[in-house]
Amino acid sequence: MDIRNIAIIAHVDHGKTTLVDKLLQQSGTFRQNQQVAERAMDSNDLERERGITILAKCTSVVWKDVRINIVDTPGHADFGGEVERILSMVDGVVVLVDAAEGPLPQTKFVVGKALRLGLRPIVLINKVDRPDARVHQVHDEIFDLFAALEASDEQLDFPTLFASGKQGWAAESLEAERTDLSPLFDLVLRHVPPPEVQPDEPFRMLITTLEYDAFLGRVLTGRIQSGSVKGNATVKAISRDGQLIEQTRITKLLAFRGLERQGADLAEAGDIVAIAGFKTATVADTICDVGVQWALPSQPIDPPTLAMT
Ligand code: GDP
Repeated sequence: MDIRNIAIIAHVDHGKTTLVDKLLQQSGTFRQNQQVAERAMDSNDLERERGITILAKCTSVVWKDVRINIVDTPGHADFGGEVERILSMVDGVVVLVDAAEGPLPQTKFVVGKALRLGLRPIVLINKVDRPDARVHQVHDEIFDLFAALEASDEQLDFPTLFASGKQGWAAESLEAERTDLSPLFDLVLRHVPPPEVQPDEPFRMLITTLEYDAFLGRVLTGRIQSGSVKGNATVKAISRDGQLIEQTRITKLLAFRGLERQGADLAEAGDIVAIAGFKTATVADTICDVGVQWALPSQPIDPPTLAMT
């Protein structure tokens, strides 16, 4: 199946959760009479180990036979290298901005990281139904923000959608007919490139986040860079310099489907998955077939700096 991996960057309260709930509903990820029981991106608690923040929230929807994985990004500067690692799993970002409030400082940090990684944002001006919406001004503010963050000409030439996540629609102009969120789905498929992966090579995945689960133990999440992996495969973890850390049989392979992580028998290059079974492997290590010698390059891990606000 074709895949697109994206992140939504939004200031808290600008409407990310509401929008993702509507994307899930409209993509038919839920049966029509099934309620979105849990709010999409609010489900995980934060955990820490050895100064590394652990956070692997991913929602997945299918649109026109393409799987769109939506990765959550921590919004604050105190997540340091974590933001870069998470953004390095995606090929596009949706910058969601409240039509009345405009871009706020906390968003700037993550947008800056995304621009530096060369991602070409889609801008979604949300809550245009608000009576105090100031859509055109906010559009200009976003352009100025991108320019101040030294966006390239290509990044400055961003496509914009106007939306009300709450009412469940997005449109290319304020005058356009307001139907549903299909303009957003379609724009993601058009504007975001598929992941650059090597399906025919051995299995390799860079560990991006680490969580603990009461039943599964250590759960390691990342995007499969090459090859495919079976749910019961024997694999190994190697450090950045290629040293063996441990070899193990996978106890659980989890793929993101809708709001949930589901057990999978097989996962392929480009998809974002979580793997349980390792005892010591950690963020920035590579999980791979036992015959692989080379680790994947990773973003540097800097310990989170506490926000000085
Ligand atoms: P998040 O913190 O970014 O996940 O934001 P939420 O989705 O939780 O929304 C924050 C608040 O904004 C809630 O009270 C929502 O009902 C409201 N909201 C979300 N989307 C819209 C919208 O399109 N229009 C209006 N007027 N309010 C919205």
